[in-house]
Amino acid sequence: MARDSDKPVLLWFRQDLRLADNPALHAAVASGRPVLPVYILDNETPGAWRQGGAARWWLHHSLAALARNLGTLGAPLVLRRGEARRVVAGLVKDTGAAAVYWNRCYEPQAIARDETIKAMLKQDGIEARSFNSALLHEPWTVENKAGEPFRVYSAFWRACLARDEPEAPLPAPKALVPATAESDRLEDWALLPTAPNWAKGFEAAWTPGEDGARDRLTGFLDEAVNRYKAQRDRPDIAATSRLSPHLHFGEIGPRQIWHATQAAIAAGGASETSALKFLSEVGWREFSHHLLYHNRTLPEAPLRQEFADFPWHENGAALAAWQRGRTGYPIVDAGMRELWATGWMHNRVRMIVASFLVKDLLIPWQEGEAWFWDTLVDADLANNAASWQWVAGCGADAAPYFRIFNPVLQGGKFDPDGAYVRRWIPELAQLPAAHIHKPWLAPDAVLAAAGVTLGESYPTPIVDHGTARDRALAAFSRIKKAA
Ligand code: FAD
Repeated sequence: MARDSDKPVLLWFRQDLRLADNPALHAAVASGRPVLPVYILDNETPGAWRQGGAARWWLHHSLAALARNLGTLGAPLVLRRGEARRVVAGLVKDTGAAAVYWNRCYEPQAIARDETIKAMLKQDGIEARSFNSALLHEPWTVENKAGEPFRVYSAFWRACLARDEPEAPLPAPKALVPATAESDRLEDWALLPTAPNWAKGFEAAWTPGEDGARDRLTGFLDEAVNRYKAQRDRPDIAATSRLSPHLHFGEIGPRQIWHATQAAIAAGGASETSALKFLSEVGWREFSHHLLYHNRTLPEAPLRQEFADFPWHENGAALAAWQRGRTGYPIVDAGMRELWATGWMHNRVRMIVASFLVKDLLIPWQEGEAWFWDTLVDADLANNAASWQWVAGCGADAAPYFRIFNPVLQGGKFDPDGAYVRRWIPELAQLPAAHIHKPWLAPDAVLAAAGVTLGESYPTPIVDHGTARDRALAAFSRIKKAA
């Protein structure tokens, strides 16, 4: 009969695919018990959000990287598929595990699932412990003076900054006593696209996994952080961190980012104003997660009630043109093509394409949210839902609905030379900067010299922005009157 101290701790990896600053792993190692690292592909828990296609590509590579790093500690990563509750119960039974540890997720379905599993384990006398690896502050700890969650970002972030500094990150374990169990083969999960392989462009753009995340943060703090404040809105310049997919999968945590950034400021390598602006964007991630925690229907329903009756237009052809980057507005199309090719899109361009869908085309924001969910490598329930609601004007602290981006002016302001458009829309590459954001107004001779035939090599605009803007404002005034 096994001694009690030989009974393993089942360490359940979820959105925390890293060894450093992993409190559940740290506690499992500290328990002195053998550690059984497990990842469960849970597409069966009722109501669970299934990962989109681009996120599945990332997950495959991230799990492979995690398995490699665990391998250096002699601990094989056990892969299992199925309803998490059943898989955990089965593994506990088969391995005689005395405890199950994990880091918390904040999505409503994940919370409900985890509560059920915790209750099940406790009933069976199994220790169940959860930890915070994903946020600077737990959602139930940041409140306004009335004891309620914040609805305004600036007040929220001020309150976060007034709290104690986030805890220092934990080191990766140097050694552990491994336990093991039968595992699926990662290849058999078929997370990668095959016919066709639409993710070819992803490989050049990304290095999923903890090492890739660490290198990305170091590179950003060494080379780009000082440009961040001034240039973070320029899609033609690499001035942002591109940490979003790494953060979503928990290959790096916000505490690590916080402390590394503060250290770069203290060492004099990072300009304080620029670096703090960067941390304030990590604060938007925090705000979105807190919003989702307190508003379970954020991914489906507008936070502002009056938007429930907004007169949206369902328009399949316009939606398809938007998805394929064929709206005739170059900055919109460049963004949608960058998304398709790399699984990521620059934040400024996300705002422009989202405004275009919701306001110029009057297509429900949930359609855009769903497309992003399937195509972004950083697809994140909290950030995606909160951001779409923000652009649509129906979210917390949202952009006012009447703020409608003009895609031509936005293009000229944030991609002044047209380099971003040229990169993603090669058929416009020869157009001079003066015409690149509004090719339909270019003289015929300029178009001919650039090899552009509007309506053939590149579409004419699917809507006139001025007319579309008036239509959107009229739709908005209808819900305002009804409110
Ligand atoms: P940086 O500017 O370097 O910021 C650092 C980190 O802060 C990011 O990695 C991200 O985790 C966080 N962050 C930055 N901006 C925001 C923001 N506005 N809201 C929440 N967190 C932020 N981000 C996602 O991670 N997943 C999504 O599914 C997602 N969907 C979006 C949908 C729309 C319509 C819009 C307008 C924005 C969306 N964002 C989403 C937010 C933002 O665009 C990305 O986080 C950012 O572009 C990622 O690039 P970066 O890592 O270089 O960001």
